[in-house]
Amino acid sequence: MESNRKIAIFPGSFDPFTTGHESIINRGLDLFDKIIIGVGHNATKTSFFPLEKRISWIEQLFAEEPKISVASYEGLTIDFAKKHQANYILRGLRTAADFEYERAIAQMNKTLSQGLESVFLLTTPELTPVTSTIVRDIIRHGGDASIFIPNALDKSEFALKNTVAALKKK
Ligand code: ADP
Repeated sequence: MESNRKIAIFPGSFDPFTTGHESIINRGLDLFDKIIIGVGHNATKTSFFPLEKRISWIEQLFAEEPKISVASYEGLTIDFAKKHQANYILRGLRTAADFEYERAIAQMNKTLSQGLESVFLLTTPELTPVTSTIVRDIIRHGGDASIFIPNALDKSEFALKNTVAALKKK
C-alpha cells in the first residue's frame, strides 16, 4: 500500500457526467495526490448513456491531468478502492437527503474496511440542484441540458439519439 500518498476514489454512475461532478473532482485535486474516478456499472441495469461513452467523456475532460484516472467497476466500492490502493472515498453532498443516504453507506463501508475513510465536499450553492437524474429527464424530453454539462465536452453528444434507449431501437 502506498500509505504516504493520499489516493481517493470518486465512485458514481455519471449518467451523464455533469458540472456538479466536475466541480467536486477539481476541488478534490487540492486534497488528494491521486483520484481514480470509478464509473459504476451494473450488468443487470441499463444505463441511459453507454458505459464506454460515460468513460470517454471523463477521459477527455481530464486528459491533461496526470493525477486523475478513470476505470469502470462492478461490485463493492470497497473492493474497487482496495484494487486501486485507495484510502479515501470522495463524495459530494448536496442536500440533507444526500447526507442520510451517504451516512449509511459510509458507516457500512468503514465497518467493512477500517482503513478507508469517506470524505465529503459540500456542493457550491449554484451547483446544488444539478443532478444526473434531472439532466436525463431534460434530454429524454428533448430539452437542452447543455448548461449542466462541462464546457470542454462536445455537447452535441448529449442528445437523445446517443442514449442507450435510442441505440437499442436501431
Ligand atoms: P450515484 O449514482 O452513486 O449517486 P452520481 O453519478 O449521481 O452517483 O454521483 C456521484 C457523486 O457525485 C456523488 O457523491 C454525488 O453526491 C456527487 N454529485 C452529483 N451531483 C453533484 C452536484 N451537483 N454537486 C456536487 N456533487 C454532486
